[in-house]
Amino acid sequence: MVDYFNFRKNIIDNRTSIISEVNETLNRIKSSNLNSFITIAETEALQQAEISQVRFNNGNPRELEGMIIAVKDNISTNGIRTTCASKILNNYTPIYDATVVARMKTQGAIIIGKTNLDEFAMGSSNETSYFGPVLNPIDNEYVPGGSSGGSATSVTAELCHTALGSDTGGSIRQPAAFCGNIGFKPTYGRVSRYGLVAFASSLDQIGTFSRSIEDAALLYDVIAGKDEMDATTSGNRQANTIENLDKFDFKKFKIAVLDDDIINQCDDAIKENYFYNLDLLKKNGLQVEEIKFDNFDASIATYYIVATAEASSNLARFDGVRYGYRAELQQGDDLMVKTRSEGFGAEVKRRIMLGTYVLSSGYYDAYYGKALKARRLMYNQYKQMFSKFDLLFLPTTPSTAFKFGEKINDPISMYLSDMFTTSANLASIPAISVPSGKDSKGLPIGMQFQADTFEESKLLGFSKFFLELNK
Ligand code: GLN
Repeated sequence: MVDYFNFRKNIIDNRTSIISEVNETLNRIKSSNLNSFITIAETEALQQAEISQVRFNNGNPRELEGMIIAVKDNISTNGIRTTCASKILNNYTPIYDATVVARMKTQGAIIIGKTNLDEFAMGSSNETSYFGPVLNPIDNEYVPGGSSGGSATSVTAELCHTALGSDTGGSIRQPAAFCGNIGFKPTYGRVSRYGLVAFASSLDQIGTFSRSIEDAALLYDVIAGKDEMDATTSGNRQANTIENLDKFDFKKFKIAVLDDDIINQCDDAIKENYFYNLDLLKKNGLQVEEIKFDNFDASIATYYIVATAEASSNLARFDGVRYGYRAELQQGDDLMVKTRSEGFGAEVKRRIMLGTYVLSSGYYDAYYGKALKARRLMYNQYKQMFSKFDLLFLPTTPSTAFKFGEKINDPISMYLSDMFTTSANLASIPAISVPSGKDSKGLPIGMQFQADTFEESKLLGFSKFFLELNK
């Protein structure tokens, strides 16, 4: 299966048809053992395929005509069940589309199904899903990463052209790295969150999985932009990234890198790959400079305070009255307590308890207040850095994919797999993970670039340049 960018050319040249592409994709999904989908939207996809083919035949295809997209199951789809991989929303079907979904549909995209995830997007391995884990498509004994494991897996396993995910602390970039594709998180406020089931509202951002930078750009250009339904979306002028991928003189870019002490915390395969790429950039004439980033290591702690605090508040709406699952009651039972005890999994409960604790009156200043200050310091450092540099280059993850069961009973070690991703969410900046070779076991490695707010064009363009250097 080629990427959508090339598929579109093939359609225009009459070398393939959308209906056959959709049928072949559905067959692959049905025979797949990866558990990457919670719901398959077969009827809707086939209907849309007919419409898209006619559009192409008539010579008026829209921006995403016939792009087969898998959507993470925490993004609302009108008439298609949306579970957040939780028992509490197991039987919930939205009556409206998320803004991103509405925009993609308006441009002719084909939604093929809803992908599996860690429950409420909380996790790094996809092991917390009520619907069971997703398998890594490269080696089934390994996790695909999380929380958007189903979306990441589906792109690598050719079960769609592209996929949508959400990234609160790395949930697009980390699974993209583990599965060997491109994971892109735009600037906070660039893409509407209307219809995304909230985890941590000040960090959540919808983004893309793809096998080419062109596909990421095409999809991003459609979903991005001001939305009346989300007051945090930005009205900033929006660049058309697909047409600007080659606009910059990338060899003149200034690249910042972190202190070697931070990088040395990574496994050998990641370190080797990282330093190899650093050399490659230098050999190609780019200016690469080490910067001092105070307390970079504190981003995990900061993130887990802010994210759990917001989650504890956001998840209060699941009370057994308004949405989804409702527990069966015996005399004397409390509806809310029983529903939430039965409906939420262990990781979600852990986050709610942690979040409630850091927000409680005796501890608010010690934890939540401090985390907000740390967040601001991080933001300031990024701003200062981007006044001198175009991009920050760093690994996506400290290791390649790990085995099932390896970290699920050790939350701290699981949380540490986000050590390079959470800072971008805390600072609201855009970031991307691109594939960069494999370790000795054949597992994919991801390298990351981060840019200043609203510099998506630079980020996507440079990633294309970087992938070509690496060929
Ligand atoms: N792995 C992180 C967490 O568990 C990030 C999750 C996300 O980005 N949705 O919170």
